[in-house]
Amino acid sequence: MTEQCSKIIRGIGVSPGIAIGKAYLLERRRISISQHTLEDEKAVAEECKRFEAAVSKTEMELEDIKRRIHPGFTEHAQVLEVYQLILRDPPIHNETLRLILEEKLNAQLALVRSIRKAGERFSALDDEYIQSRIADLEAVGERVLRNLAGLEHNLLDEIKERVIIVAHDLSPADTAQLRLERTLGLVTDMGGRTSHTSIIARSLNIPAVVGTEVATKSVPHGAIIIVDGASGKVIANPTDEEVNLYHERKEEFENYLRAISRTAHFKARTQDGHLIDVEANIELQEEVVAAKDNGAEGIGLYRTEFFFMNRVDFPDEEALYNDYRELAELMAPKWVTMRTLDLGAEKLATWYPQIEEANPALGLRSIRLCLHYPDLFRTQLRAILRASDHAHNIRLMFPLVSGVGELLSAKKILREVKEELTRTRIPFDEKMPLGVMIEVPSAVAVADMLAREVDFFSIGTNDLIQYSIGIDRANEHVAYLYEPLHPAVLRFIRHTVAIGRRANIQVSLCGEMAGESLYTPILLGLQLTSLSMNPQAIPRVKNLICRSRAEDCRRFVAKVLRLRTADEIGRRLHTMMLEKFPEELRVFNPGILPNEEPPREDRSRTKRKLYS
Ligand code: PEP
Ligand code: MG
Repeated sequence: MTEQCSKIIRGIGVSPGIAIGKAYLLERRRISISQHTLEDEKAVAEECKRFEAAVSKTEMELEDIKRRIHPGFTEHAQVLEVYQLILRDPPIHNETLRLILEEKLNAQLALVRSIRKAGERFSALDDEYIQSRIADLEAVGERVLRNLAGLEHNLLDEIKERVIIVAHDLSPADTAQLRLERTLGLVTDMGGRTSHTSIIARSLNIPAVVGTEVATKSVPHGAIIIVDGASGKVIANPTDEEVNLYHERKEEFENYLRAISRTAHFKARTQDGHLIDVEANIELQEEVVAAKDNGAEGIGLYRTEFFFMNRVDFPDEEALYNDYRELAELMAPKWVTMRTLDLGAEKLATWYPQIEEANPALGLRSIRLCLHYPDLFRTQLRAILRASDHAHNIRLMFPLVSGVGELLSAKKILREVKEELTRTRIPFDEKMPLGVMIEVPSAVAVADMLAREVDFFSIGTNDLIQYSIGIDRANEHVAYLYEPLHPAVLRFIRHTVAIGRRANIQVSLCGEMAGESLYTPILLGLQLTSLSMNPQAIPRVKNLICRSRAEDCRRFVAKVLRLRTADEIGRRLHTMMLEKFPEELRVFNPGILPNEEPPREDRSRTKRKLYS
């Protein structure tokens, strides 16, 4: 190790902590295609058989997925039917067999060629619908190729030892299925601070760096790497000196965490007596243990969609009811805020229609998706309402509400479900509080009108920042514009808090900003009295709250709100933090100042490739 030169790759540190270990390169889409000519008739016959077997296996897999789809999603079932037709389509199926028989190509190569040829024919046609089928061709091709290569469809299952996963991209569903005992750290080419993969890495306490753009090209499989999840640095083939240094940093990090976690179970009260409610965001019921261990005073956000994403079929009302009831009972008498399904954009499930949208973040997601598929929405609402009767500690929350019209439509369905339960004598908590997330600028603008319809607001800054600045929260190329300290964002929060106070309803903040201790003084200064965050962040945030004076924070915020850019505000905040909480800044180094280090070596966008 000492002789070689280490290589530094920069990305966005999204989950603090240090990992040192072997890199495991997860090749999501690239399948290496073997190329050889078949020697004799016997080899040709066997290759034809192998191809037919892979096609049949793929057919069975598709049939299986189709069976598990929720009956409401007819479009998705239709897509799978198209896949099945493609499998047996003569230009693909017969052509592949011809290439094996006549040109003696091995099956993988023959299939790649026939798909390419069909794709070229499709592109030449002046028909948008046919052109859009190229993606289907490739998806079917990938399935058959994986079966020919004997590869698992879930690549994470192939990992058998403790490693640092290096991937081009990881979907939130992949991340939620990570085996914790085998995952030391995560590094990806794509992603941003608040992409859901980053959120899960934080809640699972896995050091992670995303948005490196080049990690899968620069880190060799099996190489030793260091991941610094706070600064966003990845070191491949480190020198002995670097390994020693990072072992020391890891120890310092762990000691600091141990020290602050001692007071995590006390109430978070500022030095001038303001009590702040600190709750946990969770994605799965299993995280309740971490939430309780870290001193959460309730669940401020249960991202219910993850229960749907982590399974192959659509959960029925009973499965949902059991999950919600157990969670409510585990947390009682503390509140559990259940957010209705926030699927769509990057959060996808296998049973759910993968609609092709040019701008999924602006598309059929979240509450819009629920209103589009009311049966699905009703099933979830029934389950939540039934569960609410047990400990009377459930609060219901609608995500991504853009205005009063949408809220009224959702409330109408809620009312109908309640009436149906009453008619059939199924009990529920009739006083269950209802809230909306404030995460689109239009909701901020009509917050006064929304406030008349609900019992509480929860500000979702992850999306609020995305939509107010107009940048994709998961896109590493515009990550530099993802500015929680943008004056517009701070004004939106201030406005929402003021409206909530005037209407006498609670305003909480559950975006990732709440869990970044750097922003704690700002949020206190904006007069938020309830914060919800990933469980691991609770001790740090409580520690800072207890060491702050709310009045000082208010004065500080009043001053920074006069500044014009996020950068100016960031500098002022950095100076103040350095003076008051130097150890917090040192250990977590959230990197709000411009990067002094050299830029990343390759800024070109890394495209997904199907074949290599
Ligand atoms: C948010 O947008 O801030 C939020 C909490 O919701 P999610 O991250 O799940 O979109
Ligand atoms: Mg959101």
